[in-house]
Formats: sequence, C-alpha cells, structure tokens
Amino acid sequence: MAFYSTEQIKRVRLVRRADGYYAQFCVSVEVRETLEPSGNTVGLDVGLKEFYTDSNGECEPNPRFYRNAEKKLKRAHRRVSKKQKGSANRKKAVNRLGRVHLKISRQREEHAKRLARCVIRSNDLVAYEDLRIRNLVRNHCLAKSIHDAGWYQFRKWLEQFGEKFGRITVAVEPAYTSQACSSCGTVVKKSLSTRTHVCQCGCELDRDHNAAVNILNAALSTVGHTGTSVRLRSPSAVEVNASGDLTATLAGANLSEQVGSLKEESPRRDSWGVSTIAFVSI
Ligand SMILES: [Zn+2]
Repeated sequence: MAFYSTEQIKRVRLVRRADGYYAQFCVSVEVRETLEPSGNTVGLDVGLKEFYTDSNGECEPNPRFYRNAEKKLKRAHRRVSKKQKGSANRKKAVNRLGRVHLKISRQREEHAKRLARCVIRSNDLVAYEDLRIRNLVRNHCLAKSIHDAGWYQFRKWLEQFGEKFGRITVAVEPAYTSQACSSCGTVVKKSLSTRTHVCQCGCELDRDHNAAVNILNAALSTVGHTGTSVRLRSPSAVEVNASGDLTATLAGANLSEQVGSLKEESPRRDSWGVSTIAFVSI
C-alpha cells in the first residue's frame, strides 16, 4: 500500500468470494505506454475446437485447464446434489463448488490476459467478431459456456491493452465471415461440419483461417471508411487547413469530431475500440 498515495485511491470495496473476503482498491494511475508500430494486422476467429485461429493460419489451442475444469465442475455439482438439503455437509459442498468456480475463473482470466497482451503487442490492429455473450446462463453445454466466458474475458483484455499500448481493436459484424470466400468474396455455403473452405476461384483454406481473413478484411474496410470521411468534411474545415493552422492540431481535432459523428450515425458501433491516439499512429 505504500506504493500509492491516498489521493490516488479512488474507491475501496469489500468483496466476498468463496475462499474469503477481499479488499479491492480502485487506484487512479496513468497506464498509457508507447510502442513502436509492428507493421502487422491480424484477424481472430474464435471457435470451440481452438481458442482462436488467426488470419495467418496460426491456431491458439484451448488451454488444458478448460477440459479439467469441466470435469471438476461436474464432480462438485454431483457432490452438492447428493447431500441432504439444509444439512451442514451440503453447505460445505456448496462452498467447495464455489471454490472450483473461483479457481477456474482466475485461471481463465490469467490465460486471457497473457494471450491478449501478446496479441496486442505484436499487432497494430486486431479484429474479431462482435459476438454478444448470450444465453450463457441457459447454456447446457459446459464446454461451450466455459469457452464463451473465456472469450469474453479475452476480448475485454484485448480492448484494455489496445488502449494502453495505443493499438486499434475492431469488433466486426459476424455476418458471412465463415461463408464468404476471403479471396474473391463469393458465398460458399458450408455446414458446421465442413472444415475446409474450397472456392471456384482456387482458394482453399481451413474454414477458420478463411473466416479470420474475412474478419480482418471487414475491419480494414471499416477503418478505411472512417479515413475517407475526412475528405467529405464541410468546406470551412478545408479553409482552416489552407489558412496555415498547425496540421497536427487540426488532424487531432478532426479525428475526435469524426469519432463523435461516427457514434451519432451508427450507435450500434459502440463496441469500437478505436482511440484517437491509436488512430494518429497509423
Ligand atoms: Zn473464391
């Protein structure tokens, strides 16, 4: 605690977890760091089989604890249901189940954080599908719900590190990402079991690799769109430019205006992780 001054501590919260009580300190610190541009962009496609497949065709496997977690959760659930309702033993079993959940969520968080940091540091732009975490509670497939929660945390860390290191993160519409050909755009219908994308144009890729390329392309095209709208600005903005104002200041002002107008025009794009600083660096 000697590390932070009392002015920096904004809020203290007491939290109860299955393994005890915690005091959470909310501290205000400047976290932005500058990184050299990497020259790389990447699209990520999440799946159940792999944690994700990227647009370079690389796969990030699911961590081993995902499979172990499933087994442990099932066992702990079974133990609870065997105990008599209202008994002390049931209470203990419920607490044990809570601890299993807690351990899994900590492992998931650690994994998501490490991976996200690595992906953000090695790319200037990271694109992924804007998947809403729906039906998580009603989801009966344990493996899937564990994965969904893991993906949610991963995305959260991607956006957080994106802001910290001045990188762009883009969540794209999930439409047609697996069906369209990443090379020519033709829609090639395939069922979930079809693992390879084969197109008339000669493009043949792993299904998830093809999807990841589509995700990256979709992200790059939206970023391109915000760039071109600078040219469509009102004449007065151009006049200011011609009058010899500092271009850097002007560019900054334009960008923040742009981001503002983008939000007005399409409120559904609120998931955009584009920060102005990240934008200038491109
Ligand atoms: Zn094609």
